[in-house]
Formats: sequence, structure tokens, C-alpha cells
Amino acid sequence: MQKLTGRCLCEGIEYEISGEIGPIYNCHCSRCRRWHGAPYRTRSTIKKSQFKWVKGEELLSKFYSSPTTAKTFCSVCGSSLISLYDEEPDKIGFPLGGLDQAPNNKIEGHFFVGSKSPWHEIVDDLPQYEEFPGARSTVRATE
Ligand SMILES: [Zn+2]
Ligand SMILES: [Zn+2]
Repeated sequence: MQKLTGRCLCEGIEYEISGEIGPIYNCHCSRCRRWHGAPYRTRSTIKKSQFKWVKGEELLSKFYSSPTTAKTFCSVCGSSLISLYDEEPDKIGFPLGGLDQAPNNKIEGHFFVGSKSPWHEIVDDLPQYEEFPGARSTVRATE
């Protein structure tokens, strides 16, 4: 079974993920951009049972970016860590950037391209979605 490990910048917090992770997307929404100080957040989701803090859980801070979504980060170094969803307590969102290894699956596409940073150009051929891929979002024509 796949085992992935990750850590924050100061290495005070370490975590472990067991098993296959969900689809991986680059999220270009303005919240992810600000949270990471980067053009996008490369992220995936897992079940809560797949995730374990190895050390430093007491160093975690939490910020609610929406009424039901909590973003966690290291209170020492500020590294972005997992997202927790009050409405889906069994689900965890996490950034690939903190991982020590490559997961078995690859990036599938781009989310929230409608609010992408104006200075960033997407240069791959992966599908692009204006918002979250779902009933209401539109796929941009890619050749
Ligand atoms: Zn840290
Ligand atoms: Zn986002």
C-alpha cells in the first residue's frame, strides 16, 4: 500500500498518508493563491482514516476561510497544511507541496481558472475548469 509522508518548513509537524489519494488538481482560486503565496495550490483529497499526524499536532493553527472550511497551518513556520470541512468531516484536503514522495497518480487538471492570477500562464494541456468541476462548471476548450 502506498505510504506518503510530509512535513512543514520548520519540520516541527510531520504527517503520514496511507493508501491511494484522490484526484489531484491545481486550484487557482484567490484563497489558495493568497494562502500559498503562489499561482495555485496543487491539492488532493483523502479520507480522514488515511491521515495521521506523526508529530507536532499541538503546533497547528486553524483559520476558517469560509463558514465551514478550516485551513490549518504551522504556528511556527506558517506552512499551509490540511483543510478540514465541517460539512464533510470524513474528508481532508491537502497540498502536494509538503510531500516527501511522488504519489502514484498525476495532476488531472486546473480548478477555478476563472479567478486565475493574471500574471500566470498555464502551459500544459490538462483540462481547465472555470470553477470547481461539477454540474455548473464549464470546461474550457483545449486542443
Ligand atoms: Zn512548521
Ligand atoms: Zn482554491
